Amino acid sequence: MDFAFTEEQQMFRQAAADFCKNEVEPVAIKLENGKEFPTELTQKMAELGFMGLVIPEQYGGVGADYLAYLLVEGEIAKSSISLSMTLGAQNSLVALPIMNFATEAQKQQWLPSLASGAKLGSFALTEPGAGSDPAGMRTTAVKKGDTWVLNGTKLYITNGAVAEYLIVWAKTGEKSDGKPLLSAFLVDKAVSPFKVGTVEDKMGVHASPTTELIFEDCEVPAENLLAKEGDGFKVALITLNTGRCSVATQCLGLAEAAYLRAKRFAGEREQFGQKIWEFQGIGFKLADMITELNAAKGLVWHAVWLKEQYGLSDPRFISMAAQAKLYASEMAERVTSAAVQIHGGYGYMKEYRVEEFFRAARLMTIIEGTSEIQRLTISRWEMKA
Ligand SMILES: Cc1cc2nc3c(=O)[nH]c(=O)nc-3n(C[C@H](O)[C@H](O)[C@H](O)COP(=O)(O)OP(=O)(O)OC[C@H]3O[C@@H](n4cnc5c(N)ncnc54)[C@H](O)[C@@H]3O)c2cc1C
Repeated sequence: MDFAFTEEQQMFRQAAADFCKNEVEPVAIKLENGKEFPTELTQKMAELGFMGLVIPEQYGGVGADYLAYLLVEGEIAKSSISLSMTLGAQNSLVALPIMNFATEAQKQQWLPSLASGAKLGSFALTEPGAGSDPAGMRTTAVKKGDTWVLNGTKLYITNGAVAEYLIVWAKTGEKSDGKPLLSAFLVDKAVSPFKVGTVEDKMGVHASPTTELIFEDCEVPAENLLAKEGDGFKVALITLNTGRCSVATQCLGLAEAAYLRAKRFAGEREQFGQKIWEFQGIGFKLADMITELNAAKGLVWHAVWLKEQYGLSDPRFISMAAQAKLYASEMAERVTSAAVQIHGGYGYMKEYRVEEFFRAARLMTIIEGTSEIQRLTISRWEMKA
């Protein structure tokens, strides 16, 4: 087994680390406290090719492999979880399902503007009454001539306030057993306008707007159906299975950033005439933090390896990606919390940033499938195996 990254993967990771050091770190606290979408930094990520990392060169992207994308995602999460959310929405939640399910004409139409960052993407699945269970969806799409007419409300959509290219799920019928048939639609806001509702006031991740979207007789051209009518559930599941590696990598970034700060602080801070890391209570905490972080890395890289070996729909990959997301998100919660503790009172202050990482980590056990849903997925696949 080879644990080395390729030259190209290392190059992308270094480019992300340089971008963070020079452009993001100097403004990171202001960014989170300002609660505004970072348009300029997003544009800079686009100039570096990050917005189209997973998109092949023929459609204007960089054509990096999936691991290179994850390495960039993890580096950016160390400096700004909000920017990493934008990167994840663009690459993992919008570009990848287009690459996996779109027709050639759709790829040519949608991917270049996503790759250049000219259009920001959003993934609109969740609704007020349908989170873990998309089958409870109320949004409908009714075919009228050459258009689908969408009606309904989506909730908690990352970048919904700024996105112009969206994938929106709606109910398009019912199966014989009464269960809903879902379909996915490519929605260009310029062609199919919709309303942006409440922009949520959140616990953290403030520079990534989380938004309600309202579709009222929103007309979407018939050719914008993504995959076959009724295949929406499959599009969502396959996208979220892969997305779990992306969220897990954000958790690695958050935990590493918190660990490094805690390590530095514990090596400098003195109480009772010695460095605090020399107290076993603190030294052992640091040991547990780095052990858990490396264990999570192993799960994520293993999941990516399974994806490369056996493909997106293989149960070994699906179970391992869920394990990676479950463990990495719960690890990030523990590690960022320990980092606050190691900093003592300083850890509660924004200046030291570990409280920001702790608040961000709290989100990670919820998005793209809660920890309970990951456990459900893992146990189902394991019992079938
Ligand atoms: C900041 C933020 C950004 C987001 N971005 C997006 C986005 O871009 N696009 C998008 O579509 N959605 C997005 N979401 C929505 C997110 O994916 C959902 O919040 C998540 O899937 C959980 O759904 P819910 O909030 O409706 O909780 P619910 O599904 O109502 O769950 C409530 C609780 O019940 C538990 N539960 C539910 N079902 C089961 C079960 N079968 N077994 C055991 N326990 C269960 C859950 O684990 C949870 O603890 C975002 C959410 C947040 C907070």
